[in-house]
Amino acid sequence: MNSLATSGIELVDGSRIAVIGGGPAGSFFSYYTLEYARRLGLEFELDIYEAKDFTKIGAAGCNHCGGIVSESLVQELATDGIVIPADIIQRGISTYTMHTEKGSQVIHAPSDEKRIAAVFRGCGPKGCLDKNVKGFDNFLLGLCREKGVRVIPEKVTRLERTEEGILVGSSKSEPSRYDLVVGAAGLNKATLDLFREVCPSFGLPTETRAYISEFFMKPADIEKSLGNSMHVFLLDLPQITFGALIPKENYVTLVLLGTDIGKEVVQRFITSDRVSACFPSDFPVERTAACQCYPYVNIKQGQHPYADRVVLIGDSASSKLYKNGIGAAFITGKAAASTAVLEGIGEEHFKKYYAPVCRDLDQDNQVGKLIFLVTRLIQKSPVLKKGLLDLVGREQSNPGSAFRMSSALWDTFTGSAGYRNILRRFLHPKLLMGLTRSTVVSNLPTLHHKS
Ligand SMILES: Cc1cc2nc3c(=O)[nH]c(=O)nc-3n(C[C@H](O)[C@H](O)[C@H](O)COP(=O)(O)OP(=O)(O)OC[C@H]3O[C@@H](n4cnc5c(N)ncnc54)[C@H](O)[C@@H]3O)c2cc1C
Repeated sequence: MNSLATSGIELVDGSRIAVIGGGPAGSFFSYYTLEYARRLGLEFELDIYEAKDFTKIGAAGCNHCGGIVSESLVQELATDGIVIPADIIQRGISTYTMHTEKGSQVIHAPSDEKRIAAVFRGCGPKGCLDKNVKGFDNFLLGLCREKGVRVIPEKVTRLERTEEGILVGSSKSEPSRYDLVVGAAGLNKATLDLFREVCPSFGLPTETRAYISEFFMKPADIEKSLGNSMHVFLLDLPQITFGALIPKENYVTLVLLGTDIGKEVVQRFITSDRVSACFPSDFPVERTAACQCYPYVNIKQGQHPYADRVVLIGDSASSKLYKNGIGAAFITGKAAASTAVLEGIGEEHFKKYYAPVCRDLDQDNQVGKLIFLVTRLIQKSPVLKKGLLDLVGREQSNPGSAFRMSSALWDTFTGSAGYRNILRRFLHPKLLMGLTRSTVVSNLPTLHHKS
């Protein structure tokens, strides 16, 4: 199977695996582990420990997220035979509307296949009366159950390394021994601290506070004010790198990402003219959030997320900066599964086959930081905002256009492409020339007027 010096630590028929956390990372890992095992004719006992109940409404069943499933993930899942059922999808997003203080512009999907799913991770916000809402995380757990996974509805409170493997304990049951323990606990600090007991060189990911709220709205009002468009805001407001309104069936989700988002930042955002204009005129945005929270978002990956018989995945290890965290959970979960089943579960195996995947995400995020820095500059510059709107407007109204700026922005907003790929496209000489021209032309009247 493998040629590493530490071979001998590997999964065999009957091995026991515990996955701590049944969010996307835990589910993707479990699904692919059992799929690879099936292909090799192996059988494992795989338990997912999950503290939340994703069939519950509100915080008890929610993993705090905007709920955008990127088109690249939708397509990759489909390639592996996983199709997100229509009743999980709250709305298909077909356009992005970019708002600045200088105006707004709709960006259409670069191709017809590029469709994005807006979902709820749990069964809807606090107070949700629609009993038919089905959440994305429960759908993924269901796929795992079909493959034979046992979901244990308990919170893990103890991890301990012994000669025979790793003990996993909860407040409800006696510790149980496993051959491999997988950390898919998101950014839950208490759980990540437990992992340091069995993975001493693991350094926790860096996080910052974000914001989500859900507004209940009549579907007809959503249709009229937001449509099937995700609305993103490039406003000159401090601490906000990315603000978006995501239409669902009966709700509109507001997401703010940036640095340490707090109440005042939220207030400034929702009362700004551009944001208020997206709601019906008689809708009191400041007072009507059905549900809101300030969850943490991963902004820098954890260090060394593996040891003999232990590996951490998803937000607990590496994510994608500000975008497509579910996609990163898929990438890390699948990579850890193939390493564990096909290579081995020793530290050396994870170092050789899994760590490069995390490193690649990290390098891409470094480029992402640069892109968000430039976005910040645009947010602060009325002149550049006008130029950007002008260029996108020209592209969108000309079907024969190469859509260079529109498609690069589309991938920046959706998180569908890697940041390195996006940067290369932003630096295309024709795009830069077009932006320069649009900036000059669209600002001429103002400059002329001033002189
Ligand atoms: C404001 C905001 C908006 C976002 N919007 C998007 C978006 O639109 N699209 C997108 O792709 N990503 C988005 N993300 C990122 C995305 O939510 C995460 O990257 C993704 O959820 C990571 O999945 P995960 O499985 O690693 O962790 P999580 O989804 O956090 O799942 C971890 C699970 O582990 C469980 N758990 C933790 N400790 C224990 C324990 N001791 N015992 C048992 N269970 C435990 C938790 O209950 C939880 O269910 C957003 C994030 C934030 C903060």
